[in-house]
Amino acid sequence: MKKLRFLVAYLHAGSMDLAVGVFLITLLTWLFDIPFAWWHPLLGATLTILPDFDIFLPLIRHVLFGTLTGADNHHKTWLHFPVVVLPVVGVVGYVLGGFEWACIAVVGVFAHYVHDAITTGKGGGSWLVRLQRTNWKYVHEEETPTHWVEHNWLKWSPLSIIETALGVTALVATGIIIALR
Ligand SMILES: [Zn+2]
Repeated sequence: MKKLRFLVAYLHAGSMDLAVGVFLITLLTWLFDIPFAWWHPLLGATLTILPDFDIFLPLIRHVLFGTLTGADNHHKTWLHFPVVVLPVVGVVGYVLGGFEWACIAVVGVFAHYVHDAITTGKGGGSWLVRLQRTNWKYVHEEETPTHWVEHNWLKWSPLSIIETALGVTALVATGIIIALR
């Protein structure tokens, strides 16, 4: 039961990113006059959660075996260096779909970094490169993502309330755009 509660808490913690991703791709494809396709929401959600792929394996390990340390802090991997990832997704988007998809890819991933910078980084985190290894919230070994989830997502907190409200707002806005297009 504890495993399930943690799993739900982790999903809840990622829910705003997913909802914002769905909203952004719906908005941008509308602005670019790209016809709606069923995979757009999936791609939008994937783009906005993309940098956090570095935490999925440690999280699975945590849910199954209960092990997670400060060393598993995903914000320390290259997926959380915007200067590396944003050009890469921009080029991939451009090669696969041209200018519009390059914009969509960059904006989607950029939104994730903005979210991280506001909620987890002291002063915005590693926007350029890993110049300041200590510039992150989970710098101490005892302050793991597990503690963060326990304090913020296993129970209602100001963070979870605000992000849930923003996520719901993003989905409502998505619905309005779909109704308009
Ligand atoms: Zn992140």
